[in-house]
Amino acid sequence: MSSKGLGSSMYDYIFVGAGLFSATLSNLILKRNSDAKILIIEKRKHIGGNIYTENIEGINVHKYGAHIFHTSNKKVWDYVNSFATFNRFTNSPIAFYKGESYNLPFNMNTFSKMWNIKTPKEAKEIIEKQKKEITNTPTNLEEQAISLVGRDIYEKLIKGYTEKQWGRDCKELPPFIIKRLPVRFIYDNNYFNDSYQGIPIGGYTQMIKNMLGNAKIILNTNYLLNKNEFEAKKIIFTGPIDEYFNYSLGKLEYRSLKFESETLDEENHQGVAVVNYTEKNIPYTRSIEHKHFENTISNKTIVTKEYPCDWNEGMEAYYPINDEKNQLLYDKYKQLSKNENVIFGGRLGEYKYYDMDKIIERAYEYEEIIN
Ligand code: FAD
Ligand code: UDP
Repeated sequence: MSSKGLGSSMYDYIFVGAGLFSATLSNLILKRNSDAKILIIEKRKHIGGNIYTENIEGINVHKYGAHIFHTSNKKVWDYVNSFATFNRFTNSPIAFYKGESYNLPFNMNTFSKMWNIKTPKEAKEIIEKQKKEITNTPTNLEEQAISLVGRDIYEKLIKGYTEKQWGRDCKELPPFIIKRLPVRFIYDNNYFNDSYQGIPIGGYTQMIKNMLGNAKIILNTNYLLNKNEFEAKKIIFTGPIDEYFNYSLGKLEYRSLKFESETLDEENHQGVAVVNYTEKNIPYTRSIEHKHFENTISNKTIVTKEYPCDWNEGMEAYYPINDEKNQLLYDKYKQLSKNENVIFGGRLGEYKYYDMDKIIERAYEYEEIIN
């Protein structure tokens, strides 16, 4: 659809991007004021941003990587449950390393397989001993990982995966990335510590559609190429902040991904939704078997391999790289943004490694200040 002329009527809010941040904030605004005139412009051919799911062969395929909703915030959980019914999926991925399989996150099942031990006391003794090689406060991911779980687990389950995922040595990565993962001395393979977890039955796209309600949406349109055609009292931009400013202060770094999917005439290919490949010389990090998210019954299955890669202009930017250098550049863009009548939000607008629940929390915070 052409965007020409669509800006001729004045909108209260124009959202650039139809991802979770825009869907939430526009929904909150409309809840408060049902007369608000809202336009959403999306450059992709669909709504949902990276949480978009597509039904293929009766299976809801997570087109931009596995998305498991998890939160400890009851308000956020109740909010998403008002747009979709969630199942009780619990993420418990398997890690493959050179033909061995381990449970994730790091818990007694992982430790007993790694060291042929049985009790938490034995596991703690080994980890405590291995941790000793780090005597300072961790300054990089390698030190952080060893001081959390020791060198054996670092070498087999963290180093290769992380270096593939982020395209750099673990010594050059910030410690916080690995702090996301739980370490437990109980036999519990739940990847998350949060109180609530699940997958919206029927996929995320349906949920986003319900959130967007009657808001006007234009797909297949890059706002930055058509800026002059759109007018609003407020613009909310959820794309990359550096791209908005035409990279005038330099380019922020991102990691991108390539997804390779195949449909197999098999009922059950890998027996679990997510398998992590933790050795360096296998080029993909994860293999996703989508039907396991919703226990879909089918003779076929769809499996997607996820290959991390460098980001270059024109590619999708999936992960901000929140190291010091990029953070400083982001801060400069943020400063620059104060001169514009534009609000930057979402994972790319704020250049922050937010999960879905945090995106919703941020939308609530923006709603407070937007007027
Ligand atoms: P996005 O989803 O990126 O939406 C931004 C939208 O803006 C996009 O649709 C884009 O096309 C559009 N856009 C950008 N520029 C323009 C422009 N110039 N004109 C028009 N449109 C534009 N979170 C979890 O909680 N659990 C998980 O298991 C999980 N797994 C993940 C796995 C992967 C591989 C990735 C990459 C992320 C994962 N996340 C997960 C995080 C989750 O995807 C994000 O928190 C969420 O999607 C962010 O929503 P958003 O609206 O900020 O951004
Ligand atoms: N990680 C790892 N081995 C794994 C899984 C994760 O070393 O098998 C590390 C890796 O550095 C990754 C980080 O933990 O970037 C966070 O993992 P998570 O699964 O939360 O990443 P995301 O879902 O955001 O890609």
